[in-house]
Amino acid sequence: MEQPLHIMFIGAHPDDNELNCGGLTARLTNRGHKVRYVSITNGDKGHFAAEYIDNPARLAERRLIEAQNAAAAVGADYVCLNVHDGEVYVDKETTEAVIRTIRSFGEPGKGPDLVIFNRTVDYHRDHRYTAQLVVDATYMLTVPMMCPDTPFLTRMPVFAHWFDVFTEHGAFVSEIAVPIDDVFEQKVDAVACHISQLFEWLPYNAGQLDSVPSDDASRRERLHDQLLARAAVRTAAARAARLHGDPRAVSVEAYRICEYGRRPSDGELRELFTIDG
Ligand SMILES: [Zn+2]
Repeated sequence: MEQPLHIMFIGAHPDDNELNCGGLTARLTNRGHKVRYVSITNGDKGHFAAEYIDNPARLAERRLIEAQNAAAAVGADYVCLNVHDGEVYVDKETTEAVIRTIRSFGEPGKGPDLVIFNRTVDYHRDHRYTAQLVVDATYMLTVPMMCPDTPFLTRMPVFAHWFDVFTEHGAFVSEIAVPIDDVFEQKVDAVACHISQLFEWLPYNAGQLDSVPSDDASRRERLHDQLLARAAVRTAAARAARLHGDPRAVSVEAYRICEYGRRPSDGELRELFTIDG
């Protein structure tokens, strides 16, 4: 490898990136590339316990540590823009923060090679507005008079969306299928770091808290099966992907290119998404 690639993942919440893209992340960092996870919010509303309702900052502290551990498990670093959970808005301050954050990763003026995020059609308002913030940032990355305190980019990054199941504004068309069987356990390890979410808040919110095992090994096994089922949806949906890393793979992550970024050649796409051959 001549130069490591710089790949940035941007999610609304501290666990969004590894849940959707932990496999691609591990494949990139295992090849020596640099990956940064960005969360717009600090996740300070994602719990039900009185100790956190009384003191949301304590939940934010816990989630920061969980997110740092999770990112490290797949070789990434973690940056949080510290917006309150549930309060992502498309405003001047947050738009400029996103522009500066993207510009600041990679060589000055060059920025990241690839930025991955969700589509703007997602179910969660924080997710929709996060995607809108990234879309709004794209062109402005190259405008010198926008946020002049942070060097503007002379090359537009490639932008891509991770897979989703929403259909109201058109179903996700999988363009690239990344096989993740070889790094699946690493992805499970990363997601399992979000104890407050995977084993507390999300089961509570779904009315399933009683079904969560109390010991670590059983919890991990449960999560493993959940992520396997989640991946199966992507594997099925991405069978006809234009660029497929391995049609025999049990688990894949699916992606599609966002038309507002640079339009890469297939050769570059293969490198960016670890598709060999
Ligand atoms: Zn989220």
